[in-house]
Amino acid sequence: MSYLESEIKFLKGVGPKRAELLEKELGLKTLDDLLHFYPFRYIDRSRIQRIADAGQNLAFIQVKGTVVSRALVGEGSGKRVSVIVDDGSGQMEMVFFKALKWNYEKLEPGKTFVFFGKPAEFNGKFNMVHPEVDAPMEAGSNQGGLTGVYPSTEKLKNAGITGKMMCKLQDVALGLCLEEVEETLPDYLLKELALCSLPYALRNIHFPKDSYALEKASRRLKFEELFLLQLSLLKQKFVNSRQSKGFIMPKVGSEFNSCFKSLPYSLTGAQQRVIKEIRKDLLSGRQMNRLLQGDVGSGKTMVAVLSCLLAIDNGFQACIMAPTEVLAKQHFANISKYLAPTGVRCALLTGSTKARERKEIAEALLDGSIGLIVGTHALIEDSVQFRNLGLAVIDEQHRFGVDQRSKLWSKNGDGAPHVLVMTATPIPRTLAMTVYGDLDVSVIDEMPPGRKPVRTSLHTENKLPVIYNFMRKEIAKGRQVFVVYPMIFENEKLDLQNLEKGYEDICQAFPFPPYKVAIVHGKQSAEDKDFYMSAFAAGRANILVSTTVIEVGVDVPNASVMVIMSAERFGLSQLHQLRGRVGRGSDEAHCVLVRGQKCSKEAIQRLELMCRSQDGFEIAEEDLKLRGPGDLEGTAQSGLPIELKIASLVKDSQVLAEARAVAGRILEEDPLLAQEKNQLLLKELRKGKYNRKDYSKIS
Ligand code: ADP
Ligand code: MG
Repeated sequence: MSYLESEIKFLKGVGPKRAELLEKELGLKTLDDLLHFYPFRYIDRSRIQRIADAGQNLAFIQVKGTVVSRALVGEGSGKRVSVIVDDGSGQMEMVFFKALKWNYEKLEPGKTFVFFGKPAEFNGKFNMVHPEVDAPMEAGSNQGGLTGVYPSTEKLKNAGITGKMMCKLQDVALGLCLEEVEETLPDYLLKELALCSLPYALRNIHFPKDSYALEKASRRLKFEELFLLQLSLLKQKFVNSRQSKGFIMPKVGSEFNSCFKSLPYSLTGAQQRVIKEIRKDLLSGRQMNRLLQGDVGSGKTMVAVLSCLLAIDNGFQACIMAPTEVLAKQHFANISKYLAPTGVRCALLTGSTKARERKEIAEALLDGSIGLIVGTHALIEDSVQFRNLGLAVIDEQHRFGVDQRSKLWSKNGDGAPHVLVMTATPIPRTLAMTVYGDLDVSVIDEMPPGRKPVRTSLHTENKLPVIYNFMRKEIAKGRQVFVVYPMIFENEKLDLQNLEKGYEDICQAFPFPPYKVAIVHGKQSAEDKDFYMSAFAAGRANILVSTTVIEVGVDVPNASVMVIMSAERFGLSQLHQLRGRVGRGSDEAHCVLVRGQKCSKEAIQRLELMCRSQDGFEIAEEDLKLRGPGDLEGTAQSGLPIELKIASLVKDSQVLAEARAVAGRILEEDPLLAQEKNQLLLKELRKGKYNRKDYSKIS
């Protein structure tokens, strides 16, 4: 029998109810899962602090003191046990709102305990609410050394699954299973990289013998995690590029050249470099899967158009897909201008294209007379077929689902088109390596000359009258203003109310006539949305009140002010995207961040970074540090390929780079992991833990 595969509910003290919670809250079902559930930090329980020193830093502390008095105080939900503890240096109150009877009885005056918790200031003094309580020499509490702290939730704590209990469960599980645990990395790697064995790592990640052992254990587990992930991604990339042959497009022909020669500006260095990278892909004989990252306004469209012309010069068709109708129309208008000097026929296909025109387009796509088609999701409908689609460009990738993108593959009779995905969401390097390890990534890291930074400032809500005045001045100069409200999924109803209230306020402050205010949000019908958006884009409204629906690429060069309400509730990258909506014209542009009166210090710091920096990558890195990858705009939807259990993309970027290098080296020598010495690795990959949900398809 295998202990590793047995369910946690059979452990003493767990039972079906707690087991259900452990699975629901933490995804832990078997003992194997449990062993791979690691502490996220450690406390040195050997250190006892003096009460007199409490609160100088607000971290967790441990004090050892004697109970002086205890009392049951308060009413209703404020009912609590208050215990005064003295350690010789001073006194501190310990407060318990739960398990009143139990705590009251346990904490007898005269007895000494060790209290562990986070001191908080209350009425000018420090107290601790719900500290962990241990008898001074209580066994199993690891007072002697480093104790792991496990992620937990309110529900788990309420069900009595405390940190202490988690330690106990780990201890039992290790006792039962450790001998069964099999090594996952081949011997030669362990030796070469001086990594410890898996059983050693598991024991010491939960119960570190000392800080040295903890360091070894953590290095091994982090490396393993990132390494197997990279190995899986790189192997897939290798298989992909072998399997999917790509059209070869060697020619730089007359269409490319006539467009290029009549460009009103010269390409930036970054644009030139990216076009070279793409050209190389088009020559390689393998299908291109490239992600093009570039800040808002960095000139991705031109790169897309020139790439399409390369395909067209080689006898293929190309398409550019945009996430919204407005955006598709805008692209079409711009691109038509670029194509004017060429002989390429360009068409627009969206949901509102009339049936007759649709039929014409369908025919022209089939007979090949349309070279480049711009459109929305309408492009991936089954009725749309190409004669020979050679290149598909997808703008603003995170608005498209993965399966929608993969539909592009079936547009041709033979062979998948090259795919270029463009995104304005700057993805930090480490993250790109992990999320898009199987894609090639190009970056436009240079802005076209002459773009002015958007002046960004931060204000509290009570300054709105002043901000309104500023808006009036800008409108008087003939400029337009965006006002954006947050719309967060979990809070949808309340957010919608806020938006509507905000709209009313603004309509009052900016009455018609002379002012015209438009409103756009996700709950409107597509037609309404389009109507108001087009009205604003055409200059028929002075102010556009909206949620983040405007975030994606719409170009209103005449808009010079972006006001963002409750700015603290947006991600930094999202704020940066929004800010990119203004400053496209020749005039000075402004971004006004409005925050709530009550706002945490960290939130203010983040917003201040926005005022300081115009660099999307710097902002994204900072966002990653502050909020973690899960929240990063644009990756939340595409999702991390797997959830990382121990490694951090921010802190362990060095381990990641090493892991990637080692994985690359192994695959270079043994691409299919067929060699005897790599069998262990193949076996690990086959478990499928490191497979990205859907990825062979492009995204
Ligand atoms: P994005 O990367 O956000 O899609 P666009 O492609 O819309 O950016 O380009 C933003 C603006 O910059 C457009 O008006 C475009 O004409 C202009 N532009 C693009 N490349 C250059 C360049 N090399 N020099 C000057 N202006 C450029
Ligand atoms: Mg764009």
